[in-house]
Amino acid sequence: MSCRATRPFLAGMGRNALRQWALAAGEPAFRGGQVGDWIFRRGVVDPIGMTTLPAGLRERLRRDFHAPGSRVAEYVDAPDGTEKLLLTLHDGESIEMVLIPGEERLTFCLSTQVGCPVRCRFCASGRDGLVRNLETGEIIEEFLLGAARAGRRPDNLVFMGIGEGLLNFDRLVAALELLTSPEGFGMSPRRITVSTSGYVPGMLRFAELGREYNLAISLHAPDDEIRARLIPDGLRYPVAEIMAAADRYLECAGRMVTLEYTLLDGINDSPETARRLAVLAKRHHAKVNLIPYNATGSGFRRPPRSAIDMFERILADAGAHVTVRVERGAKGVAACGQLRSARCNMKKQESQSS
Ligand code: SF4
Repeated sequence: MSCRATRPFLAGMGRNALRQWALAAGEPAFRGGQVGDWIFRRGVVDPIGMTTLPAGLRERLRRDFHAPGSRVAEYVDAPDGTEKLLLTLHDGESIEMVLIPGEERLTFCLSTQVGCPVRCRFCASGRDGLVRNLETGEIIEEFLLGAARAGRRPDNLVFMGIGEGLLNFDRLVAALELLTSPEGFGMSPRRITVSTSGYVPGMLRFAELGREYNLAISLHAPDDEIRARLIPDGLRYPVAEIMAAADRYLECAGRMVTLEYTLLDGINDSPETARRLAVLAKRHHAKVNLIPYNATGSGFRRPPRSAIDMFERILADAGAHVTVRVERGAKGVAACGQLRSARCNMKKQESQSS
């Protein structure tokens, strides 16, 4: 399902498009360049703040574009400094983004869709399926709202929030272009990670771009049998096809992929499973990132500390490149998609009682 906004989003416009817009509006092209400076250099999307522009042009921008389309509805802090932002979009839908400060680096985690069609059984974001894709400008607005909150641009960006980004391919890639273009935000592609649930057609298209983005594959199991318990049939691809697409990515983009592995008690955390995952990771030159599960009321449980340690040790002893995701915000900030779910439930209750 997709909902096209009636007006474009100012934040999704590149400099060329802005110059063309200025000419079409009867203004000199450099006015479009000035708008681009406000967006890309100063992070300003609301024309009210573009004080170097004539008042009439600012008014025209407000008429022609969503500028901006999103606002922060809620901030949720964790004691470790992680902060989750619940954003309300122009049509009343909600998404989340997360600011993750590290010792030296600041990372933003961004969403690509409202809801998610993959519907992984352990994930709050996918519980109600896909509502709609995010527009390119909405993805850029997430980035800018995060930067406004943090007081600076991030060092790293990860597209690991709500949604399967490679199913919103064109809009996501257009956002990546704006984020990495020297005329745009000028980030290095090596500082950007796109996560996929293993959507093979999207992985192959992404590989063909030949850009040095990092690709993280949410594998969660070394075989199709265990994976089928976690991801419903519709958008689940065989592990062999996913790993062949990972090989293609390494070949075209020159980047090792990361296998994201959510550890679930009694499901995918046995020593034998760790051994098979190690074989797979080494065969395909992939890194493994273990993510001890954060309960989302789905019936799955996090393994005990001893099982997590043993799983990691087996992979490391087998010579696989393995890390365990540092827990950020597990106590103070809801797990992925929970804030949005809570807001949706509130809305449902309100409409039922009215
Ligand atoms: S884990 Fe990712 S791919 Fe799976 S339902 Fe949640 S958001 Fe979608």
